[in-house]
Amino acid sequence: AIRLDRGGKSFGDNSVFNNLNLAVRQGEVVSIIGPSGSGKTTLIRSLNGLETLDQGIVYLKEKPFIAGREEQLGRTLPKAKNEMLELGMVFQSFNLFPHKTVLGNVTLGPRYHNRGSVGEIRSSARAILSQVGMLAHENKYPHQLSGGQQQRVAIARALAMKPSVLLFDEPTSALDPETVGEVLRIMADLAKSGRTMIIVTHEMKFALEVSDRVIFMEGGKVIFDGSPNALREELLRDVRLADFVRL
Ligand code: ATP
Repeated sequence: AIRLDRGGKSFGDNSVFNNLNLAVRQGEVVSIIGPSGSGKTTLIRSLNGLETLDQGIVYLKEKPFIAGREEQLGRTLPKAKNEMLELGMVFQSFNLFPHKTVLGNVTLGPRYHNRGSVGEIRSSARAILSQVGMLAHENKYPHQLSGGQQQRVAIARALAMKPSVLLFDEPTSALDPETVGEVLRIMADLAKSGRTMIIVTHEMKFALEVSDRVIFMEGGKVIFDGSPNALREELLRDVRLADFVRL
């Protein structure tokens, strides 16, 4: 579904990653774990152009749609606005529009991009809000909601654009412990329903339970890439990995 070939990214003298490859198949759920500063967030933000790569090409459904600054292709690649819309992003800090209601937040994208009549967009938004258990709050504003509720609205907002890939950047890191579970439950439901998902997370138990594949990054390198079961086995051998994952 989405693939990064030979990705490279530096901030000034600080090289975050180099020659990094990542390929995620349609329907696959991939968690990216690893210590702070290993480049996980930069990687996921590079997949949808929120960070500009220096080198490398991102392919969506086998078509190149983002090229690093130094790639020849960069000059010829059309601005891939429509492809961009196929990537739904959920941020650590929700990023809801504060002056819009819950329903307004979820309908804004589809309305802006003319995804149907106002009536169609609203009823589809309500169905999605019900899916994340937020329909009862459709007329509230973000500040009237808990962090977990805001994040569920942010997930609904991403889903409303009918993305083919969902990207999550540490979606529960900013939440009070008591609301983490409700967000992880929604994400687990999405994973089960066959969505393509890439999740940067520190929730190890969740990552091992819902993912098809877990990627462990350290210092900009992929140290481990395999199934949760393969990771469990690796933990028996690799003390350093085990120390980090600590289930
Ligand atoms: P965490 O788990 O703490 O979020 P991470 O694995 O997601 O960490 P990144 O946030 O991708 O790591 O950061 C990787 C490196 O890039 C770090 O050294 C960080 O300081 C640096 N970095 C990230 N964003 C920027 C930026 N906008 N400007 C300069 N340096 C940055």
